[in-house]
Amino acid sequence: MTQTWITVLGATGSIGVSTLDVIARHPGRYAIHALTGFSRMTELLAQCLQHKPLFAVVAAASQVEPLQRQLSQAGCKTEVLFGEAALQQVVVDPQVDVVMAAIVGAAGLRPTLAAVEAGKRVLLANKEALVMSGALFMRAVRASGAVLLPIDSEHNAIFQCMPGDYTRGLKQVGVRRILLTASGGPFRDFSADQLQHVTPEQACAHPNWSMGQKISVDSASMMNKGLELIEACWLFDARPDQIEVVVHPQSVVHSLVDYLDGSVLAQLGNPDMRTPIAHALAWPERIDSGVSALDLLAVGQLDFRRPDDALFPCLGLARQAAEVGGTACTLLNAANEVAVAAFLERRIGFTDIPVIIESTLNSVSSESVEDLEHILRADQLAREQARRWLAQH
Ligand code: NAD
Ligand code: MG
Repeated sequence: MTQTWITVLGATGSIGVSTLDVIARHPGRYAIHALTGFSRMTELLAQCLQHKPLFAVVAAASQVEPLQRQLSQAGCKTEVLFGEAALQQVVVDPQVDVVMAAIVGAAGLRPTLAAVEAGKRVLLANKEALVMSGALFMRAVRASGAVLLPIDSEHNAIFQCMPGDYTRGLKQVGVRRILLTASGGPFRDFSADQLQHVTPEQACAHPNWSMGQKISVDSASMMNKGLELIEACWLFDARPDQIEVVVHPQSVVHSLVDYLDGSVLAQLGNPDMRTPIAHALAWPERIDSGVSALDLLAVGQLDFRRPDDALFPCLGLARQAAEVGGTACTLLNAANEVAVAAFLERRIGFTDIPVIIESTLNSVSSESVEDLEHILRADQLAREQARRWLAQH
C-alpha cells in the first residue's frame, strides 16, 4: 500500500493528539509531512521524535532555535519553520495528501482554506474556519475538488448517515431534516442563578468529552451547538430550519438524519474523537481507532430533551446569524472568541458571553461576503466592538 502523507495543523491540541494516536496504530500506512504547534513545545518535541515529520511549524522565530537544537541532538532530521507562511507551505506542498485542520478558532482560517484551495483531503475539526467564511469556503471546495470530511463528531455522524450522493441536495435525496445532538454541557441542569457564578474550571470540566478550553466553554454556553448548526448548514447545504437541536446527555447518539419515509438513521459510539478521526482518515475504508466497542447494556438508557433557549441564548443567536447570512456568522464567531477569552481570563462572568455577542451583532451590520479580505475585516470589526464592550463594563 502506498503511504498517505499527512500534515496535522494544531498537532499539540486535543484533536491533534488523538489524530496522532490513531496514526500510531497503523505503522506504515501514514507518514507525517508536518506537525504544527503554537505553544506546548515539549509536547511538539516529543511528537516529532516519535513521528519524524519532515517539518515542524511553530508560531514565532524565537521558538525555532531551541526546538531545532533539541531535535538535532536527538538525531531527528525534522526541519523547524515558523509563522503563517510556513503553515501555508506545509499544507499546499504537493507531497501532502491529507490535512488535519485542528487549529482552534479564526487562527486556522488561512491554512485551512489553503488546504481546500490546493484540493487536499481536508479533515475539518476547525469549525470556526467554516463558520467564518462559509460561502467562500464551500465555493473553494467545489472549485478545487477538495474532499472535505467532517471531524466534529455530530457532522461526522450526519455524513455517515447521509446517502453517498447527498450533495445533490437534501430534498433530492429524500432527507427531511437533520437532528443535531448536544450533550448540553456541564451546566445543563443549572438554574439561571447558578449560571451567574460558574468558573472557567467548571466550564472546562465537560461531563462526557475531554477537549481544548475554548470548545469546552462553547459547549457549556451551547455556542458550540450554535457553531455546529452553522457548520451543518454549509456542509450539507441545509437551511437553518431543517436542523433541529436535541439535547442528549449521554453523548452516545452523535446525530441523526430524518428521511421523508419516516426512517431515522443515527450513528452511535462511545464519546471519543478517535472514532470520527479514524473514519475520516481511512474513508471509505474502516480502520481501528483504539476506541472500545459500545456497550449498550452498560449505557442502559438514552435520553432526549429540548434545549433551554432562555437559559442558553447563544444557540438562538447563532441560529439568527445563520438566517441573516452574509458576514453575520463571521461577526458572531469573532465576538464569541473575544468573549470566551475574557471569561477564561476571569474578566467577565459566564452569562456575559451572550450579552457581548448580541451587543456586537446589534452594532456591526452584516454584509454580503465578497472575498477573504472582506471576511477578515468583518472579523476585525467585531473583535474591536466586543473589546469596546469589555472596556466599558
Ligand atoms: P486545543 O486548544 O486543544 O488545540 C488547539 C491547537 O491549535 C493547538 O495545537 C494549538 O497549539 C494550536 N493553536 C492555537 N492557537 C493558534 C494560533 N494562533 N496559530 C496556530 N496554532 C494555534 O483545541 P482542540 O480541542 O483540539 O480543538 C481544535 C479544533 O477542533 C477547534 O476548532 C474545535 O472546535 C474543534 N473540535 C474539537 C473537538 C474536541 O473534542 N477537542 C471536537 C470537535 C471539534
Ligand atoms: Mg461536536
